[in-house]
Amino acid sequence: EALKRGRTVELFEAQRLANAAWELSLLTRIDEGMRNGDIWLAYQPQWDYREGRISGAEALIRWNDPVRGPIRPDEFILQAEQAGRIDALTYWVLDQAITATERFNALGPTFQVSINLSAQLVDKPSLISSVAEIVRRRGIDCRLLTVEVTETAGMCNRPAAIRNLQALRSMGFRLSIDDFGTGEASLSYLAELPSDELKLDRRFVSKIVHHERERHIVASTINLAHALRQIVVAEGVEDLSTFELLRQLGCDVGQGYHIAKPEPLELLLSRYATMAEP
Ligand code: C2E
Ligand code: CA
Ligand code: CA
Ligand code: CA
Repeated sequence: EALKRGRTVELFEAQRLANAAWELSLLTRIDEGMRNGDIWLAYQPQWDYREGRISGAEALIRWNDPVRGPIRPDEFILQAEQAGRIDALTYWVLDQAITATERFNALGPTFQVSINLSAQLVDKPSLISSVAEIVRRRGIDCRLLTVEVTETAGMCNRPAAIRNLQALRSMGFRLSIDDFGTGEASLSYLAELPSDELKLDRRFVSKIVHHERERHIVASTINLAHALRQIVVAEGVEDLSTFELLRQLGCDVGQGYHIAKPEPLELLLSRYATMAEP
């Protein structure tokens, strides 16, 4: 019996060490990936119905792990959160996105770049000073950058999160409520946050052509957003009929495979200005 218990303890200890080793290697591989290009940002262009042009792009993280191959971004973000690396990763994303913003805006008319802010980071006291430091170092006009936030249970301190988001907005960042309609309480977010943009989740968008209910939900959400002086970005626009119906419903901006997939920066830089209406 004592022997058996000893074994269990040994096994438990081995498992604990293996986990610690795994986390350490994950941590170093994330740090290395940010340096050597295994981690990179794809940019998905956004079609502006009002202006009839591509007026912005969302930065989406990609990781080609040398050990495991490509890893899905939501999976990767979760692991970065667990490894305590979400701060460093997010500030790296911001820095990269600033470079992209400068390069797009050097080419012509105003171009917005959006980044995603993890729910784990949104309420941290250090967020604002770190972001302010990067912004000062890079000397960027924050009005060209949009911060997308989702409302999830992962956000522990809601008042602190709201304060941080208000501070970001005072610095000039645009605020976007991501995955609108799927969160825990998107409407209360809409009421409490001084946001500029609402992103319709693709779970609704993809159904508007064939399902009346989703069409009504999307139409009403667009009206609600406009009444609150928000612009509406539809994500997951996958075909021409959805693209056209969104225009009819008064949607401001569309994003999705029908317009373009997320692309490497250089590729999008070289072609976005000549992209015709899809
Ligand atoms: P999200 O913010 O909702 O991003 C939109 C996702 O929809 C992206 O998935 C995009 O590639 C995908 N998508 C775009 N157009 C279409 C379409 O027409 N049809 C379909 N079916 N999908 C489309 P992706 O790149 O796999 O990213 C997944 C999620 O990972 C993102 O969802 C976001 O929550 C998270 N994520 C990505 N990059 C970052 C980042 O830098 N920081 C943080 N915190 N999260 C990130
Ligand atoms: Ca997003
Ligand atoms: Ca989304
Ligand atoms: Ca999402």
